[in-house]
Amino acid sequence: MKGRRLFRQYRLCKFHSNILDTMIRSPWMSSPYQKLEGLRTLNRQVDGHDFVVLINPEIGSWCVFTSEDYARYLNDNLTEVEWETLYVRGLAADDEGCVVETDFPSPADVPSVVVVNIATTCNLRCKYCFADCSDEKGDLMREDVMRSLISQMLSLPVPLVTFEFQGGEALCNVEGMRLFIELAEKMNESYHKVLRYRTVTNATLITDDFLELAKKYDLKVGISLDGPRDCTDRVRVDAQGKGVFDRVMDGVRRMRDSGIEVDGAVCTVGQHNVHCAKEIVDFFAENKIEFKPRPVNILGREITSNLTTKPGEWFEAYKEMYYRSKEKNINNASIHIYEENTYGPIRDYVCLRYPCGAAREIISVNPNGDVYPCDGFKGEEQFKIGNVLEESIADIMKKEPVRKLQSRTAKDIEKCRSCTFRAMCCSCCYSAFGKFGTIYREDPHCADRRLIFLFLIDEWIRNNVLNGSE
Ligand code: SF4
Ligand code: SF4
Ligand code: SF4
Repeated sequence: MKGRRLFRQYRLCKFHSNILDTMIRSPWMSSPYQKLEGLRTLNRQVDGHDFVVLINPEIGSWCVFTSEDYARYLNDNLTEVEWETLYVRGLAADDEGCVVETDFPSPADVPSVVVVNIATTCNLRCKYCFADCSDEKGDLMREDVMRSLISQMLSLPVPLVTFEFQGGEALCNVEGMRLFIELAEKMNESYHKVLRYRTVTNATLITDDFLELAKKYDLKVGISLDGPRDCTDRVRVDAQGKGVFDRVMDGVRRMRDSGIEVDGAVCTVGQHNVHCAKEIVDFFAENKIEFKPRPVNILGREITSNLTTKPGEWFEAYKEMYYRSKEKNINNASIHIYEENTYGPIRDYVCLRYPCGAAREIISVNPNGDVYPCDGFKGEEQFKIGNVLEESIADIMKKEPVRKLQSRTAKDIEKCRSCTFRAMCCSCCYSAFGKFGTIYREDPHCADRRLIFLFLIDEWIRNNVLNGSE
């Protein structure tokens, strides 16, 4: 199909939107717009009213019709402004059969975020740990690995580099973290890049030493916490099987006492808390912690624990959290990510976009220098893509298997290839691998994702067509 380059004045709208009233008819048009092949329709009933959603699955753009308006569309009986409304959203072709093209930047293929597994040991034994961590195994990152990794990251053509310390538990190696940061700051004197530091911690090992380091280098500290005491203690446990909720909250208090705010919490959702959606939101709201709920990913210890959500459960929890988070005015990152992907043309979140960020914006490096496409793969030997002591990250990125992974899109996955929501979604490679033994399958939580996209479309209709002012 031929393309007509146009900056898309992109805003999803109900069909009678007047936002395009001021648009001037395209000067090249000599005959009417045309319907476009390959579009899908979704019949939706919202609060007793029937609607038809016309959607272009290639780009995830959509428009809502009443049944009467949809009949006019089918009969080629739209006004010029209405056709233009469809055209600029990639839902109609012009007189020559051309469609709009967007010029949004492609996802990067040079990493700017590196997950630095500063320690692969961990003091806890969370029942779903995808890296199967404990304090009986694991290593601390070596200085030669640090030096090589830092110099290679600084050499890449990116202006900003984020070092995210993870593990295992990153705070099992605060001294290593300090050495890494000091080396990075020193080596950067000849590169002048913008450096950012972040960690995600279980928050049970917060010490004065760590807090001093975090303050000195503006190290952002995210935590892992699955909601109120009962929810967290069922799965986030120490070597004796004892829940660690009180220790986490003590860590949060210590951070706040020293002036460091929690940079968000990852809230893993599974059998331990999926039916406590309201309590989870209330807990994070009361404690003023922004959170990102997400279902348990299937790898490592989870393969035998089977804690992840059953089909439909993640969606029900999402929906309840959606309403409650808005009511409580607490930032729930999963709402924003899914809303952005459902409503907007630019889908930035690296884990809900084809191709995803694995071996593109992100890489993950283990203590011995082994490189993995993203954090989720760090325990899976077969997904090792190189070692920073043996080759450069730039060269690793050019390897054939890495190129193949970088170009993994919906077209490579049978179910996603024909999915109406494929432009809004992305099956997580490592979760698909954990569940199906291959990265070329749909996401294990596919059914819930479809329900979430439909729910958000219905919400949009409710808020903008039924209750909106347009
Ligand atoms: S999930 Fe995190 S805190 Fe829990 S055992 Fe694994 S690495 Fe440790
Ligand atoms: S493999 Fe999964 S976790 Fe890793 S970047 Fe891709 S979607 Fe995100
Ligand atoms: S994972 Fe499921 S919802 Fe997402 S694109 Fe694939 S088939 Fe569609």
